[in-house]
Amino acid sequence: MSGFTSLADQKRPVRLLSSALSSGNLPHAFLFTGIDGIGKKTAAMAFAMACNCAGPAGGFAENQPETVAGNRDGRLEPCGQCSSCKKMISGNHPDIILINPSGALIKVDQVRALCSRLVLKPYEAKKRFAIISDAQKLNPEAGNTLLKTLEEPPEHTVFILTALQASDILPTIVSRCQQIRFNPIPISSIQAYMETSHGLSAEKASAMAAMAGGSITRAESMAKSNWIEKRNWIIEELEALPSRSINLRLAFSEALSKNKEWLFAAFDIMKNWFRDIVIFNCVPDRIMNQDLSDRIQIASQRADINDLLQKIKAVEKAEKDIKSNANLRLTLDSLMLTLSKGY
Ligand SMILES: [Zn+2]
Repeated sequence: MSGFTSLADQKRPVRLLSSALSSGNLPHAFLFTGIDGIGKKTAAMAFAMACNCAGPAGGFAENQPETVAGNRDGRLEPCGQCSSCKKMISGNHPDIILINPSGALIKVDQVRALCSRLVLKPYEAKKRFAIISDAQKLNPEAGNTLLKTLEEPPEHTVFILTALQASDILPTIVSRCQQIRFNPIPISSIQAYMETSHGLSAEKASAMAAMAGGSITRAESMAKSNWIEKRNWIIEELEALPSRSINLRLAFSEALSKNKEWLFAAFDIMKNWFRDIVIFNCVPDRIMNQDLSDRIQIASQRADINDLLQKIKAVEKAEKDIKSNANLRLTLDSLMLTLSKGY
């Protein structure tokens, strides 16, 4: 945790939070929205830390704008050294309360326990924080219980709810929160991060970043699950399909069906591979699999664009059918036969 510096790509949210902090007036509740893995929870923790920092440049002072409160040069970085910062870094601050979904939902008992804790005064914090992650998972009863507390907010307490989008949350809750939207992280930033933190080549990091959909968390989990190797396997299979026997084609669909948790990532890889071949002749610098540009160039020279577009549609249809519970093996077998047409 290094305060706001780890949120370099979230300039607007950081600016809004910084100005709330230096204004001397905090809203009772924030709602941070945006896809997973773009720093919403990091920002919530950094903000809680900055509000309570006892260091020379940090801290929130009630009703005292920045100049009076002593924040220097508008710097709102928590020091990371004071007792409050240290407790927060180690996850042991008694006034920072984190609520995560228990299974698929945030249950009413979790919210009731939170609310009864908030009736008491904070132990030591200037501002106590209740951070509710994935608030779209509040079940209706839990949502209504939370709403009652938001309507009569406890003193010295700031709620931060995080969610994918505001429309997933009870409108009566949203209306009580200051909403801050977080943007997907630019591909170039994810690429740079993957190169430095995972030691990937620029081409591999670029391919992974392009597929991560703006989410650092997703890029991380791709790196951990050997995404490059799996992608290479799928592309080799796709290239070999046209010259293969029926049995080998069906062996590929069998192998895919055994990796159900990874199946939708495999579909994305297939679609992007075909897409790269389609666009290579017009915009070669826009392909996603940058590290495979030589192979894409060769494939693009003998490709039939309509045929490739049909294949992309076939993958999309299989994806949709499987999501609506069609028979997995039958759908994949039929897809492989469609993708076996030469290009
Ligand atoms: Zn501090």
